[in-house]
Formats: sequence, structure tokens, C-alpha cells
Amino acid sequence: MIDLRSDTVTRPTPAMREAMASAEVGDDVYSEDPTVNRLEREAAETFGREASIFVPTGTMGNQIAIRLHTQHGQEVICEARSHVLDWEMAMMSAFSGCQARAVAAERGILTWQHIKPAIGAKIYYRAQTGLISLENTHNMAGGTVTPLPVLEEVWAGAREAGLPVHLDGGRVFNAATALGLDVAKLTSGFDTVMFCLSKGLGAPVGSMLVGSRKAIEQARIYRKALGGGMRQAGVLAAAGLIALHEMSKRLHEDHANARLLAEAVAAEPAAAEIDMETVQTNIVIFKLRSKDRATGGDAAAFTAALKQKGVLVSAIGPHSIRFVTHYDVDRVACERAAAIVSEHLRVL
Ligand SMILES: *Cc1c(COP(=O)(O)O)cnc(C)c1O
Repeated sequence: MIDLRSDTVTRPTPAMREAMASAEVGDDVYSEDPTVNRLEREAAETFGREASIFVPTGTMGNQIAIRLHTQHGQEVICEARSHVLDWEMAMMSAFSGCQARAVAAERGILTWQHIKPAIGAKIYYRAQTGLISLENTHNMAGGTVTPLPVLEEVWAGAREAGLPVHLDGGRVFNAATALGLDVAKLTSGFDTVMFCLSKGLGAPVGSMLVGSRKAIEQARIYRKALGGGMRQAGVLAAAGLIALHEMSKRLHEDHANARLLAEAVAAEPAAAEIDMETVQTNIVIFKLRSKDRATGGDAAAFTAALKQKGVLVSAIGPHSIRFVTHYDVDRVACERAAAIVSEHLRVL
């Protein structure tokens, strides 16, 4: 099976398994796991920040960040298809008592022009904005990248408005790779950054929340409250260190493979509609067309048909398909998948 459903399906590499087997460990709730401590120190260094904390999932990292920056009864400005809104179990309301002020932005790129009018007026009878949350790359917009100048404008505007800014950087290393920038530079103006070790970076489990020492001290309390206090987590952090330092350097391969798949889709315009401008990293999203063009094509049927031929993909809407490339699907496998996709689109 060629599994293009998500980059979360990556299994730990042989080097990771070796490092996991020989990891030095201790009780991390007592801050005594040397491998977790090292991962937290080195992740903070990589992002040019004071501190970071290892969390079991990106969802927990994002939700801790939202709790850190907000008070109950406030609003969080985020993009309309963002992960914090659509895929995190309404936890910004359940855990932080906040509601989302969702703003739709073309290709998921939230600019200051979108954000400024969404900020609650400073009037006592309107809900106040507590936080701005961005997503880079933007998953459901197709792995799109928000460029640095757009971010700089958001950081400057937010500073002037006295608002904190969080980055859901589940795939921020993909964004940095696409832009040819260091992650520290690409994220310097955010108050907190969450990134995933378990996506394209290939670790079996884990994400990091990065920020000031004070923010991360408080994050440790919220992590424990959410049940995220882990014990000998060094076996996981050992894989995380390889993800952070090694796997982050090869993401351009995934991006080239995504482009190959996207080009196969774009070559069949009668059967599929794709915005090639969105194909910037390791995600490919497109819409199927129906024969009569009156409606879209059937995504569930397409997914089932590809599965029969050994390719797993995701239906992310009634007519929409997503491919995600990653370490466990190499160039040869992507070429085979592209051929199968082309063949199938041609007969649709
Ligand atoms: C995957 C993902 C997360 C975190 O997901 P978990 O499954 O909770 O680790 C957060 N943000 C984005 C954009 C993601 O794609």
C-alpha cells in the first residue's frame, strides 16, 4: 500500500528505533528525564527562544497556548478552516472559555488586512479579542505557506493592538523549507509556537510548544492538568531529537513528490480541478468533477477505487481529495501513485 492519507502515518526510522532503545530516561514529571530535557533545550535553541515543553500531541500544545494567552469570555481570531477550530474538539471553548472569531482567507493566508477588522472593539459590551492564532503551513488550504513579510505585518499590527500571536506550526518546518528560511527567523514575532515532531518529521509521538521561560513554566501546569504529564518520555524524546535535527533537512523531497502528484492531477482537467498555486509543500488538495459538470465527482468512490489499486488517499469533503507526501513514500512510490491516479482520472 502507498499511504498518502497523511504524514502522520510515518513510522519511526531505524535510527529513531535505535535511539529509543538506548535512551537515557527518568521521571519527566519530576523534570528528571535527561532526554526530554535535552529535546526541550534544543528545540528552544532551534527557535531562538528561552524554553520549550514536550507535549504528546499538537492539539494539546495549541490548546495550552490558547489557555496561556486568553481569559474566559474572549475571542480567538483564526482562519475559518484552521486546525484549532475544525480539528481540536471545540477545546478553545471547553478548556479556555473562548469562542473562535473565524475569518476566511484565500488559500488560508491570514493577513493583517483580514485580522484588523475582526478585532473586537474596545467597548465593555463587546467580547474582547484575546489572541490571534495563525497556521503555517495551512493544512486544509493545501499546505500553503504564509510568507515572512505577511507575518511581519501581523506581528507589528498585533504588537500595536497589544495582542499576543500564537503559531500553529504543525508543519512549520515545511513552511521554512519552502521559503528557504530558518524556522527561528520565520517565527521570531510569535509569542508561542507549536510544532509537530510526529508529522513529516517522522517521530512516532510528540509535539513541542516553544516560548518564553515564563510561558513555558505555566504551560507545564496546564499540561499536567490535561493529563499530559508523562513519565519516562525520554524514549519518545530520543526519536524527537532525530526528527528535529535530521528529518527537518529532507522535507524538500516530500515537496518535490507532492508537485509530481499535483502535476498528474492537473494533466486531467476534465476530471479534476486543482489550484496549482496551493501546491507549495507536501500537501495536494483538489476537487473531482462529475461527467456532466453539474455537481462534483464522488470523493468516497474515488478513494475506494484507488485503494483497490494500492493507493490510500483521504476524502476531505464530498468532492475533495487530499494527498500528503512523507518519508515513508519515496520517489518511486510517488511515481507509481501518480501513474495510478492519472489512469484513474482518465477513465472518470
Ligand atoms: C496535525 C496538526 C496539529 C496537531 O495534531 P495532533 O494530531 O493533535 O498532533 C495541529 N495543527 C495542524 C495544522 C496539524 O496539521
